Amino acid sequence: MSSPNPQVQSFDLVIFGGTGDLAARKLLPAMFHRFVDGQIPENSRIIGIAREATDDAGYREQMRKALNAEGPKAEKVDAFLKQVFYRSLDARKDAGWDDFAALMAERPDNVRVFYLSTSPDLFIDICTRLGSHRLNEGASRVVLEKPIGRDLQSANQINDAVGQVFNESQTYRIDHYLGKETVQNLLALRFGNALFEPLWNAEHIDHVQITVAETLGVGNRAAYYNRAGALRDMVQNHILQLVCMVAMEPPASLSPDAVRDEKLKVLRSLRPIDASNAAHLTVRGQYRAGAAEGQGVPGYLEELGDKSDTETFVALKTEIANWRWAGVPFYLRTGKRLPERVSEIVVAFKSVPHSIFDASAGAIANNRLVLRLQPDEGVKLWLTIKHPGPGGLRLRHVPLDMSFAEAFGVSQPDAYERLLLDVVRGNPTLFMRRDEVEAAWLWADPILDAWACSGESPKPYTAGTWGPSASVALIERDGRTWNDGGE
Ligand code: NAP
Repeated sequence: MSSPNPQVQSFDLVIFGGTGDLAARKLLPAMFHRFVDGQIPENSRIIGIAREATDDAGYREQMRKALNAEGPKAEKVDAFLKQVFYRSLDARKDAGWDDFAALMAERPDNVRVFYLSTSPDLFIDICTRLGSHRLNEGASRVVLEKPIGRDLQSANQINDAVGQVFNESQTYRIDHYLGKETVQNLLALRFGNALFEPLWNAEHIDHVQITVAETLGVGNRAAYYNRAGALRDMVQNHILQLVCMVAMEPPASLSPDAVRDEKLKVLRSLRPIDASNAAHLTVRGQYRAGAAEGQGVPGYLEELGDKSDTETFVALKTEIANWRWAGVPFYLRTGKRLPERVSEIVVAFKSVPHSIFDASAGAIANNRLVLRLQPDEGVKLWLTIKHPGPGGLRLRHVPLDMSFAEAFGVSQPDAYERLLLDVVRGNPTLFMRRDEVEAAWLWADPILDAWACSGESPKPYTAGTWGPSASVALIERDGRTWNDGGE
């Protein structure tokens, strides 16, 4: 039997922003795990780039700490770090680039992956210099971290500038939600089973809700966050990508363009929200001091140390205006300082058309498919069954639990593990194409404009609660409830 994790082609992964939080917390650990599984060929290299004046040895020490190299793991970390290098340069200045280009020239046959894990205002400088050193030629790819712009216009500027150096097939816009096991599993469940697809439409589905809830506040990212807000930070990218995966038509194949064409159609079918309906369909919130994770926490404005109308919570109701989904509400919600860290998609089916059971049997709850992306990835299908025993017929609502870690006895790979190797393999299926990013901004921009024109401040909510009460009203006025505390 062939290995489930075959080696990829030899590569050089260059991480601009190699000393940053994302590199240390996600990218290096992801590559280490793939190294341990034997997927990284010996002559591959990971090259960190930042302004900090250190060298290979200094960078390896930083990454050793980031990888928590203790006990039996230490030996493997040592072996991995032999493939890790560092170059100090400032993306905005010419010094250091010739030395870096010479390093790249040492392995001309390696696939080159340039991961831009820096603030987006450096993307243009980095790409321009990569181009002038002809590092964009041959098997070269560029990975762009979010956020890609703060509106359609700024996204276009970035995409145009990157597009001067890398063509679209070389450009990988990463959304790590798409690399999550549960999201991949949504594809397998929908298109690998005959059960779901006939029911996957407005006739049988009552509504869909997507929640991405964090317990953390903005912490030391307040300056960045204050310019973005919850709609730009979470909804425009991650949550809309999840909407696409739930709502898209079956693609003809898993080829990159087949999948992305279908996702694009969903984005273009989103019912517009603008000044005429934003007050009715959206709720913005901002946390005040409260309690989270068992202790008192400050409010957003205290953390920022300034006045601000940036939302740390958003809930909204949208619809996908096409034949499959017309009339099915999609309730989307995300926020900081909420009571639980949870990301999930709930597909709620309609009720049975007629009950044959007596009132003594209890109510028939609707079927729900709950796809949990974090913290513990898995899928539960809620069904009605008979309560076991010889007594009268009583109904119970129970989940058919498909918890992956338990079912397969494996730990979940981090999304970045899969996505980084997909870039090396040259498979962009799980990355966003330029037109998807544009379509998402085209939908999000009028909401941001409507909020700005309304002059209203976000509604306050106490840290550790599920957002402003208006968010509860948004769904409950339709006779539905958020899946809070549900499973
Ligand atoms: P960060 O911790 O602030 O790191 C920024 C990195 O860029 C540092 O290595 C910094 O090192 C380097 N840098 C800054 N200016 C530079 C310059 N002129 N030339 C070369 N290098 C420069 O940021 P981060 O949290 O890792 O985030 C990186 C990107 O990923 C951002 O776009 C962020 O929005 C996105 N992102 C992050 C996360 C996350 O969990 N952290 C999640 C999703 C997306 P020096 O100062 O030494 O140069």
